[in-house]
Amino acid sequence: MARIVVLPSAVADQIAAGEVVERPASAVKELVENSLDAGATAIDVTVEEGGRQLIRVSDDGSGMDRDDALLALERHATSKIRNAADLVGVASFGFRGEALPAICSVSRLVIETAPEDGAGTAIHAAGGKVTEVRDVARRRGTTIGASQLFFNAPARQKFLRGARSEWRSVLETMSIIALTRRDVRFTVTNDGRQAMALPAARSLRDRVSALWGAAAADRMVDVEDVQGVVQVSGLVERPADVGTASRRTFLTVNGRPIRDNGLLRAAEAAYKSTLAPGLRPSLLLDVVLPADAVDVNVHPAKAEVRFRDRWSIERCVEEAVRRALGTFDASAALGVRRWSATAPGWTARPADVELLRPAAASDGALFESATNGASAVDHDEDRAFAHEGNGSAVRPPEPEFPPAPPVETPPTQYVPPLLQLRRTYMMFEHDDGVVLIDQHSAHERVLYERFMGMLERGEAPSQRLLFPLTLHLAPAEAEAFEANRDVLARLGFEVEGFGGHTLLVNAVPMPHPRFDAERCLRETLAALAGDRDASSHARHERLAATVACKAAIKAGDELSPGEMRALFVALGDTTLPAHDVHGRSTIVQLSWSELERRFGRQ
Ligand code: ADP
Ligand code: MG
Repeated sequence: MARIVVLPSAVADQIAAGEVVERPASAVKELVENSLDAGATAIDVTVEEGGRQLIRVSDDGSGMDRDDALLALERHATSKIRNAADLVGVASFGFRGEALPAICSVSRLVIETAPEDGAGTAIHAAGGKVTEVRDVARRRGTTIGASQLFFNAPARQKFLRGARSEWRSVLETMSIIALTRRDVRFTVTNDGRQAMALPAARSLRDRVSALWGAAAADRMVDVEDVQGVVQVSGLVERPADVGTASRRTFLTVNGRPIRDNGLLRAAEAAYKSTLAPGLRPSLLLDVVLPADAVDVNVHPAKAEVRFRDRWSIERCVEEAVRRALGTFDASAALGVRRWSATAPGWTARPADVELLRPAAASDGALFESATNGASAVDHDEDRAFAHEGNGSAVRPPEPEFPPAPPVETPPTQYVPPLLQLRRTYMMFEHDDGVVLIDQHSAHERVLYERFMGMLERGEAPSQRLLFPLTLHLAPAEAEAFEANRDVLARLGFEVEGFGGHTLLVNAVPMPHPRFDAERCLRETLAALAGDRDASSHARHERLAATVACKAAIKAGDELSPGEMRALFVALGDTTLPAHDVHGRSTIVQLSWSELERRFGRQ
């Protein structure tokens, strides 16, 4: 007896339908994507009972004539590709020609469509069978209503969840689509209540604002970066705001929403040293790259992609986010932040550390590195704060010094007058408000990046001591020394074990004239005692952060005006000036708008 039979096509359609439409949200997604593929500029989605009872999607797209509308219900009927070659770099959301027949096979379907205003076609079908075709009058576009999903597939219907849960999925699906196609106007209604009303938006920021409220958009910094053929743009959460609201992530590659943990992890890596452990930022990023660098056709729902060179794309993403976090706009704010509103270009302009990156005239010997020699004040002093070796922050010459050589110097920029408050903060005024800088955190950030640079390049300027220091350590500290001995040497601490728990220190780094090497080394070893961090890379960072913390000027240290200027310039030259190395803010802004609000002026 034959055991194998070919399934009747109705059964095959239902099985296929299970793959395309699992639940109301997936039907909504397919229908809305069809509307987008048809060039719609406005799409209205109506559901009842979270889509269990009804899903209706109405658009102003191209519409269909009668023949096409009937054909659209056939399996593998598509207007979007003609042959296999078209699959490469296909730009439409759909191309398999499966969604409409799949939805039709498990619901009661009504299509009303017209290619021009006026005469259109209405098609009724149930369980995959067309029951009625007639003329209707309607505007150009298409409305497709699918009711009683799975009415003829009880096994599937059992898997539907409650109306509220299905509605949440519909909203989630629509949020993703709305973030992807900011140019389209959307409304979404459930059981007569409108949940989304999104006008066409000019930017992701505007769309986020319409979708989740202005406060959500305010927490985000703009990303806008091109590296070679890879373009990364979007919004990422300001480190100081991470953890204050629920986390949202969203990624597109070449305009398609995707899921990709690798890219998210790369973006999160950019937050390294700016967030307390366990916190994860909201990230909304669009990645654009040449079509042949990516294969979108991996996952049936096309939510995953395969990159030809994943590593380099992840690195572009990380760098783009890191640059965004390095802008002044990424710093924390007290109360409302209206900087962008009052100062066009402030948030949108990447690398706004420009504000902190003037070439300062300076008597800032405090922050000078020992590489320039022990005679503290010479005309190269500000160079200590530039990224080592690029010489970009050479200050304009002061009258008493010979003119500085014309290295690729940025045009002289204005360093605002800086005021030290409570021997702890530096304050200055900007067009948009008041800015406070924590002097210890700032110096710590400067030193951390310098130490990391030394560790990466393996050059450690250090100063030989005339009389070696002798340090007596507790057992745990001696152990910490042994564990970090090589890294300490690379930072410029030349130390010999001297039997037992005694160290002999022959040479020390000289990050600034007030640096107390003995105290720094003691405190560092005390802080590292008992620290068991497995990976050596993490150990580098930990040590650089600890030495930076111990070596930096403290709250309570009085700074001269020149020292403040030098610190200001050095901070501006770091990659993440607004964040210290423990996940706290280095810079806090107080906008005039917030002050005006507090004083009832607006
Ligand atoms: P696919 O999107 O993969 O082509 P579908 O089954 O989703 O397959 O749709 C089949 C065809 O029906 C599409 O190729 C398109 O030509 C047409 N179609 C579906 N929805 C619409 C719509 N809203 N407006 C205009 N044409 C549509
Ligand atoms: Mg489709």
